[in-house]
Amino acid sequence: MKAPHIKTKPPGPKAKEIIERDQRTTAPAYGRVYPLVVKEGRGMVIEDVDGNLFLDFTAGIAVTSTGHSHPQVVRAIEEQARKFLHFCGSDFYYEPMVRLTEKLSRMAPGPSAKKVFLTNSGTEAIEAAFKLARYSTKRQHVVAFLGSFHGRTLGSLSLTASRSSHRAHFGPLIPNVHHIAFGYCHRCPYNLTYGSCGIECVRYIEKVLFRHEVVPEEVAAIFVEPIQGEGGFVVPPPEYLGMIKDICQRHGILLIADEVQTGFGRTGKMFACEHWGVEPDILCVAKGIASGLPLGAMIARSDISTWTPGTHGSTFGGNPVACAAALATIALLEDGLVKNAAEVGTHFKERLDRLKTAYPAISDVRGLGLMIGVELAKQDGARTPDSELRNQVIRRAFENGLLLLGCGESTIRFIPPLIVSKSETDIAVEIFAAALKELAH
Ligand code: PLP
Repeated sequence: MKAPHIKTKPPGPKAKEIIERDQRTTAPAYGRVYPLVVKEGRGMVIEDVDGNLFLDFTAGIAVTSTGHSHPQVVRAIEEQARKFLHFCGSDFYYEPMVRLTEKLSRMAPGPSAKKVFLTNSGTEAIEAAFKLARYSTKRQHVVAFLGSFHGRTLGSLSLTASRSSHRAHFGPLIPNVHHIAFGYCHRCPYNLTYGSCGIECVRYIEKVLFRHEVVPEEVAAIFVEPIQGEGGFVVPPPEYLGMIKDICQRHGILLIADEVQTGFGRTGKMFACEHWGVEPDILCVAKGIASGLPLGAMIARSDISTWTPGTHGSTFGGNPVACAAALATIALLEDGLVKNAAEVGTHFKERLDRLKTAYPAISDVRGLGLMIGVELAKQDGARTPDSELRNQVIRRAFENGLLLLGCGESTIRFIPPLIVSKSETDIAVEIFAAALKELAH
């Protein structure tokens, strides 16, 4: 399948018909971005029901790490499906689950021994971490960051603070969650400049939060995305994560890294924490772990994984077919895809960076590996986020055969499957630049 190739301006007639049916019975809560109706996916390419071929730079929101329906992943799924589809891993044993927990406990950053709890999704991994943090520390308060996204179930939603609309009318949420500003240097919450700021955004925790709002002895955990995802692909300054870890160590607080979006090679290393040499106490993962089958994991240091049998569980978490898909996915990542993410990511980011001179609407290009964000702003002297332009560019890219997504207020995220080639990123840059040229004034 050679993409992009647009036969009929999307949405074509078949897509329109399915969308109309969808609107009759599907919950209106889903916030569809543009009218793409998928028929098939192979590698980097998505075919819609009208025969249009798109280059996929969304990877199903950072999920299909090995590309769509990678033959080795499909084979592993088929082999396991022929043996058995399900047998509750919370109550009984099967080897694919053990093989995966062995693998994940070895892969997680840092030298400590680890224990793994398997879930079906990212939000469930966060819920598990939230519960374990309270259970093992016997403390109730937690700290999370403005701009963060940790999921939508009520525990995770209490941590999530990327858009207030996610939280509106769902309260009361879990009490004793303290939100503080994230290390977003491009729009520093303290109006300081990196280099002379003393990393005020981290110092705030001890200087202000622990002094005025909560004593550290009552704080169970700090939840942090090493790079904020939904919040705008925000890469904090290099010393950031290490400084937070130091604070945690000084006060017996658990550092919980939410690598649901950054994990499994996305940033050019298996886990983003590795860029800064930080071992979290708990690592939460999902998305790219199983190439699209629903799976997540909460990987905790063994010494804090103190919960006793029956304290937590899940009917489907660690489903054998999903475990088989994860093992095949991890083998492919270790076999070259993480390296590809680093190499192609560097090339891709350089090319996007070069657009800055020709297109002043681009206010920032940031990211690591194949997790790259391009922020768009108005040229009004105040760099006001231009969400309207961002949305128009995404829509035009779709019409021209490139699938993109937004994040933050006015950022476009580029998160292709980790199999992407340099020439495919060049095509993406061309389509993106053409849309900007046409729409940015
Ligand atoms: N954490 C992060 C960083 C995420 O990006 C997401 C989803 O986008 C989640 C948690 C929630 O994951 P899920 O949608 O699988 O529940």
